[in-house]
Amino acid sequence: MLTVEQAWELIADAVSHGPCVRLPLGQAQGLRLAESIDSPLDSPPFDKSMMDGFAVRVADIRSGLQRLPVTAEIQAGSLPPRPLGAGETFRILTGAMIPSGCDAVVPLEWTRTCSETGSDPEEIEIGQTERIQPGLNLILRGRSMRQGTRIAGSGDRLRPASIAVLAECGIVQPLVHRRPRVAVLSTGNELVEIDQTPAPGQIRNSNAAMLCAQIESAGGEPVPLGIAPDHPERLREKISAGLECDFLCLSGGVSVGKFDLIPQVLADCQVHEVFHRVAMKPGKPCWFGIKPDSETASRCHVFGLPGNPVSSLVSFELFVRFAISRFLGGDLPRPKLVPARLTAAMTHRSDRPTWHPACLHQAEGELRVAPVAWQGSFDLSGVATGNCSLQLPAGESSWPAGAWVQVLPWESLTAF
Ligand code: AMP
Ligand code: MG
Repeated sequence: MLTVEQAWELIADAVSHGPCVRLPLGQAQGLRLAESIDSPLDSPPFDKSMMDGFAVRVADIRSGLQRLPVTAEIQAGSLPPRPLGAGETFRILTGAMIPSGCDAVVPLEWTRTCSETGSDPEEIEIGQTERIQPGLNLILRGRSMRQGTRIAGSGDRLRPASIAVLAECGIVQPLVHRRPRVAVLSTGNELVEIDQTPAPGQIRNSNAAMLCAQIESAGGEPVPLGIAPDHPERLREKISAGLECDFLCLSGGVSVGKFDLIPQVLADCQVHEVFHRVAMKPGKPCWFGIKPDSETASRCHVFGLPGNPVSSLVSFELFVRFAISRFLGGDLPRPKLVPARLTAAMTHRSDRPTWHPACLHQAEGELRVAPVAWQGSFDLSGVATGNCSLQLPAGESSWPAGAWVQVLPWESLTAF
């Protein structure tokens, strides 16, 4: 049977970067750039004041002048009325343009008004004169960024700070890899929608809600298709609709039972199998295939996830999240595991490598992991407090408390 590592390789080969689109900056958070961007401007674009205070000529202060008439005011957003002359000062506000002739801004806190109320012009007395050097509280044009400087590279993820830099440069529609549309279809005669009361023998379709949440957190756009019964014709109809999307996540029907019809129906829909069954627990029956390009439909990546909720959850985290990250422009050859220390001794026995639901947390400057109580792939409530899978080898093994183990975080850490 295929190993998880081999499955990752097959997924990495099969999923290429998704199409590029220009999106408004407000919709680009978390997406990867598909172009490199050089700054079209100097930042700041003009010499400006970092403080509220007084624009001075250092030579005046050095020559012993401490009382200066305040002959103008420069607010942020307006231009200095004229160059600063010898023996005068302008009141200047934070962010305002420095007048020529000025080579320092004395903070308001170092000055006091010394003229009588109402006298014109107002006079100030400057203190702390030994600290007044050329350049004090000025930010010179281009200090943060020069025109032509590379501000973001192709493949970089847009985060709030880089979005701000693009905004400053007026780049309001960056070219990014767009989010994939990911169809979700739950299969099974026993399923009812979550707002229905299940009749005896039925259960709610909890997997769809979970998968849509996972898709969103992975950067995809979920497209819920509801429930299809275990009936070839009905499955074909719904699956054909799902194949219009970039991805299709099926839940249920990929095992070996009489009504596990998904592999056959997918074959009927010309979806080419890449793998079926992976040596892992939970999630062994996992199916992956590709519906190739054709004139009518674009390439669709199809995952058949086992219906057992924990199997669905873990197979998504191991495979679908990784596939989506590649579509979004990611280049990792496989998902990133992180080392963490076991909080308690642990013994484990299984015929397959196991991805045990667990809880990752930080304590005393290190990552620690505690397995959650878990009875098997049906046991969703047992894993609801988990946030990662703890990787355990096949066979029988035991670890002391404090042993280092490998962990696959289920959400945010994959975003690095
Ligand atoms: P299957 O993979 O179709 O053999 O389903 C395995 C188990 O998962 C069965 O107990 C199903 O009732 C359950 N199951 C299947 N689909 C869902 C779903 N969408 N939500 C919750 N449980 C499900
Ligand atoms: Mg079923």
